[in-house]
Amino acid sequence: MRSLRALAPVLALSLAVGTAGVTLAQAPAQERLGASQPTAAGAGQAKALSFAGGRIFQATGFGNTFLVTTKAGDVVIDTSLPMNAQRHHALLRAEDKAPIKDIILTHSHGDHTGGVPVWKEAGTHVIGQANEVEFRNYQERLAGFFAVRNAAQYNAPPGALGGGARPNLNPGDYAAPPLADVLFDKEYRFKLGDLTFDCLAMPGETPDMLNVWVPELKALFIGDNYYASFPNMYTLRGTPPRPALNYVESIDKVLALKPEIVLPSHGVPIVGAENVRKTLTQYRDAILYVHDATVRGMNAGQDVYSLMRSVKLPPELDVGEGYGAVSWSVRGVYEGYAGWFDGDPATMYATSPGEAAAELVRIAGGAGPVAARAQAVAASDPALALRLTSAALAVEPRNAAALAVRKTALEALLKASKNSNESGWLHAGLARVEAAQK
Ligand SMILES: [Zn+2]
Repeated sequence: MRSLRALAPVLALSLAVGTAGVTLAQAPAQERLGASQPTAAGAGQAKALSFAGGRIFQATGFGNTFLVTTKAGDVVIDTSLPMNAQRHHALLRAEDKAPIKDIILTHSHGDHTGGVPVWKEAGTHVIGQANEVEFRNYQERLAGFFAVRNAAQYNAPPGALGGGARPNLNPGDYAAPPLADVLFDKEYRFKLGDLTFDCLAMPGETPDMLNVWVPELKALFIGDNYYASFPNMYTLRGTPPRPALNYVESIDKVLALKPEIVLPSHGVPIVGAENVRKTLTQYRDAILYVHDATVRGMNAGQDVYSLMRSVKLPPELDVGEGYGAVSWSVRGVYEGYAGWFDGDPATMYATSPGEAAAELVRIAGGAGPVAARAQAVAASDPALALRLTSAALAVEPRNAAALAVRKTALEALLKASKNSNESGWLHAGLARVEAAQK
């Protein structure tokens, strides 16, 4: 997960999880509620949280950083964003100053890898799953695309999340700089001091996801395969398929280990064997439910939009949708399996839906009458009003009535939204409308 505004619901939900049996340092209110500004995400934390009898420390922020202490040196798991790295380093080094022997990256999203340069010492090994190489190349290849998408989705100032097209990124020159010096396929296990670190390939949110199992502490670092919301099995900023059954299989492997504490890289840990079992079982079952309902619908000939509307989690599997959304995941499953063609011969050709909509707008008498219709439905169906204004504005980009009703629809959707990614895109839409109104 890469989230900025997302931290608020995620952290708030996470804190509903019980903390019996561990030392959980009292985090300041700002930290617990998250923060809306990227530079402040997780700021204000007085000290690192402590777990497993003081063997694991967590600096919380936009992506957590973990420090695991052993008698032979320390291990860092994930390193957060560059903007958080110095603060996390200071918080965690206040707890323990032994040499950093290894940095384990649960996956290569930037909110996990950003602090590697801050943490790496002479002789520190960086460990990743082998798919990291291609996943980093993929992110590099699309750096310009993601810079724009991330800024919209996370409602962040331009450049706050890094990225942007590399000046020397030529076609065919797709190699990201190497990060890990230890890469493994299925499992990489090593002993440091009195602890074992069992790094296990666990594809889920990304193909290079790994989890770290420390059997002596019965602790499992789950990366982004769990956070306190239905997952983003598809993320709006753009992603290759995140197969539902990968998540299910990886979470099953975690459950089989019977951890007593599970530490996600966003939010706070799930503590207690029974709590872990219940929480992860529900999470797995929610993913499987959405997958199976979508597959059933596909086989019954239903289109993707009907399924986006009809597939809902039953109450016992409702894990919240503060970050990921079921409807996007339905579409992610559908198109992950079937790709973009919807079975309509018209879709085979490069004539866009927008071109046909523009013809209809002209037949209707231009943007004005279409904006009037959008106004009429805006209160009851703001999403339909948005679609109508998209068509109207494609023909007349500065039509005042269409812009005004689009703004109303976006504001209504924003007011109703409880999902941070949805809110990010609605804010981005509003900014465009306001720019066109000037
Ligand atoms: Zn993340």
